Amino acid sequence: MTTDELRSQLLAAPKNGYTRINETQRAEMEAYCKRYAAFMDACKTEREATAWTAKAAEAHGFKPFAAGMTLNPGDKVYYVNRKKSIILAVMGEKSLAEGANICAAHVDSPRMDLKPNPLYEDSEIAYFKTHYYGGIKKYQWPTVPLALHGVVYRKDGSVITVTIGEDDTDPVLVVSDLLIHLSADQMKKPLAEGIAGEQLNVILGTEPIEGEGSDLVKLNVMKLLNEKYGLIEEDFLSAELTIVPAGKCREVGLDRSLLGAYGHDDRVCAYAEIEPLLNMGIPTHTAVCILADKEEIGSVGISGMQSQAFEHFMGGLCAIQGVELRDCFANSFCLSADVSNAFDPNFAETCDKRNNSQLNYGVSICKYTGSRGKGGASDASAEAMGHVRSTLDKAGVIWQIATLGKVDQGGGGTVAAYMANRNIVTVDAGVPVLCMHAPWELVSKLDCYMTMKACEAIYLA
Ligand code: MN
Ligand code: MN
Repeated sequence: MTTDELRSQLLAAPKNGYTRINETQRAEMEAYCKRYAAFMDACKTEREATAWTAKAAEAHGFKPFAAGMTLNPGDKVYYVNRKKSIILAVMGEKSLAEGANICAAHVDSPRMDLKPNPLYEDSEIAYFKTHYYGGIKKYQWPTVPLALHGVVYRKDGSVITVTIGEDDTDPVLVVSDLLIHLSADQMKKPLAEGIAGEQLNVILGTEPIEGEGSDLVKLNVMKLLNEKYGLIEEDFLSAELTIVPAGKCREVGLDRSLLGAYGHDDRVCAYAEIEPLLNMGIPTHTAVCILADKEEIGSVGISGMQSQAFEHFMGGLCAIQGVELRDCFANSFCLSADVSNAFDPNFAETCDKRNNSQLNYGVSICKYTGSRGKGGASDASAEAMGHVRSTLDKAGVIWQIATLGKVDQGGGGTVAAYMANRNIVTVDAGVPVLCMHAPWELVSKLDCYMTMKACEAIYLA
């Protein structure tokens, strides 16, 4: 045997996904990415993603879950948790005692939330004070167009939905940065300190209302909010208003091979989970799609993946079949669908290139996340990795291996550990992302498409 023959038999030879897909797959990929981009334009917060998904589910024959309802194989149900998280299920041929095939992603993304008392005026400029949500590099957020999204519960119990900055005729908002000419001191600071948390104040207006007294610019802004939404200042207390980058998902690169958008992490995996489920026939095992909230701040709280809301829904499904929830969990499999870092040659020194995901090499499978000695990781077993590998290979899905950066460089987590803690075999996998957690993130169309195919294959395994 020649060394070439030996090499091809024995050694792994990852190839760029573009060399491995045919024209039909390319066309499917482009069509899929257009639908994904439309989803991104409509959904910038967990609430918007949850509402969008519930509506799409209804349009595809899903019914709201109710305890004790009759469920037959192929029946489709969904459960909305506090308007910020949603679980969908398509009932399988087999009993839930034999487990479910679960894909879990999150629909919250890093951003700047308004403080409970946000509105103020300084030097005749009106601002919102914010507290950033999730891990951000604060210096990236000034001088980019921003939009205001959210809901306000008014005193009379009515709920107002607010969106400003997305329509072409809307104004946008912005956080200022210091001009370079006066930045001698700022430029000497470490990046982490160049912009402080308390400097992430969003400019709202500069025109004073006509009249006497103080805070005439602030008063003018409040008047505009009152005219448009009926708000008074006290309403901010019972609101969830958030500042996100304004604008739409766009094709990036002269070859249009990338998609740029706010919040690919993790709506790119959320959408990859939703689409195959909407059109599913009767799966062998019950297929479950979770879109969780609060992943970016530790999956805590009532709408996060650590919440008992998941047990409430799955336990309800199991009760209908007379199955113990613990037996269902023990036999289930979960793909924790979350993004990984795509290798960036500009920052090559932060990664182990041999073990890092790369753009256009397909969905990235991650045995463990965590950092510094795998701390906090859900370390998937050889058996679990083997299950994913053979399932994806059988379905013709292009995949690659991922770890998050060099061994002691940093790290991150996903919902995987919280699923595994429930005695559910869990593996992390998702789309590689460039400039993760920046106001604008990049993903490759090919990887988006392959992640959707991976979710489909896992549901049907
Ligand atoms: Mn994520
Ligand atoms: Mn994240």
